[in-house]
Amino acid sequence: MRRKKFKPENFLIRSDKSIKLGPSVACDGGLAGDELHHVISHAHTDHFSKSKIESTWVEKERPVIVTEATSKLLTAYKINTIFNHDRVVIQEYGKPYSYEDGTKITLLDSNHILGSAQIQVEKDGVRYGYSGDFGENIDDFINVDYLAIDATYAGHYVEKTWDRETGLERLADSIKENLNKGPVNLIAVSGLMQEILSEIGESNFWDDSKLIIGTQQIQKFSKVYNDYNYRQPAMYIKDGLNEEKLKVQEIRSSDRYLELATSRKQLKSQPRGVTYHVKNRNIDFEEPIVEDKHEPNYFHVALSSHAFSDDIFDYINNVNPKEVMTDSSRSETTARIMAEKINEQFSAIKAYPSL
Ligand SMILES: [Zn+2]
Repeated sequence: MRRKKFKPENFLIRSDKSIKLGPSVACDGGLAGDELHHVISHAHTDHFSKSKIESTWVEKERPVIVTEATSKLLTAYKINTIFNHDRVVIQEYGKPYSYEDGTKITLLDSNHILGSAQIQVEKDGVRYGYSGDFGENIDDFINVDYLAIDATYAGHYVEKTWDRETGLERLADSIKENLNKGPVNLIAVSGLMQEILSEIGESNFWDDSKLIIGTQQIQKFSKVYNDYNYRQPAMYIKDGLNEEKLKVQEIRSSDRYLELATSRKQLKSQPRGVTYHVKNRNIDFEEPIVEDKHEPNYFHVALSSHAFSDDIFDYINNVNPKEVMTDSSRSETTARIMAEKINEQFSAIKAYPSL
């Protein structure tokens, strides 16, 4: 029988936000030491950088391992995975891949954005895993002893008075209604933005042409989402060529248009019409859409692509690890609180924050 070799130095989160899953795998961040495999969990830039991926390709001469959708979405950040096809390994969800050095890697859907993955690594008889950023309603869970977990929401309990599907529907309806009256602005992070656009497009809403303003990055993401059957609209680009910028100015002076942004600063300081600001963190709202107390026609929308509350504990329960390391690389406080909650909830699991 192979001896199981677990060493704490093979399971940690480093300052470049890379998650070391055993001696041979780094997930997100970059390849720091002598790992052979670099997995990118999903196409959100708070998890990786273009230069780290290029370093994997050029300096370490290693491929990056991603899902097909993630490889396509990476082109929105000018990371050309098509040109570098020999340096990209595409893994399908649910199909374990055994590499020559004896490392076995499995990617499973994490229900966060298109292409996002949970990562399971088996090496020398030890099973390590990373949840990646994960959403609710996951069907397949990784099966690991050592789990590194996304700690965006600290596991605090919130009474849910409405579900995500309802929030999404209400937002889509509200946007459609207001688009009949005047300009509408929508701020949402990549992925969630395309999910909202797809919800709006459900009733063939994009079939008659609408005036939509976006950015190059939003447009690239939408093209990929469209390929995966999420209905997306065509758009004019505000950070494009001069000719197109003039067209955008012309649209902005009309009375019916939808302007898309991934952050508040991509909009003018006083945008015309109604603005919806979708923010991951407003999960404890009693209603999914709430008007700002001081700014009329500015709505805060509580929608997230991250699991929270019970769903986090359900996730841990399903993975059923021996140890859980909560990710401190974004917030030390939430990681510490989440580890405490897990220890309270599960007596058989040892939970601790990274660092
Ligand atoms: Zn993410």
